[in-house]
Amino acid sequence: MAVPQNKVTKSRRNMRRAHDSLTADNPAECSNCGELKRPHHVCPACGHYADREVVAMVDEIDLDEDAA
Ligand SMILES: [Zn+2]
Repeated sequence: MAVPQNKVTKSRRNMRRAHDSLTADNPAECSNCGELKRPHHVCPACGHYADREVVAMVDEIDLDEDAA
């Protein structure tokens, strides 16, 4: 089994990890509803992409309908 020849110090480990942080993607406003959305993705709020609806949105799903 391969064994590290030398101990990696906290300093060296942390210097290596200095570049590991994730960056937030750049949110853009939906041109239809104004919600923040990921660029080049369908708007999760209204289902629009490039000013046309590509995913049909259901207004509200009533799960308690059968319980009454
Ligand atoms: Zn939208």
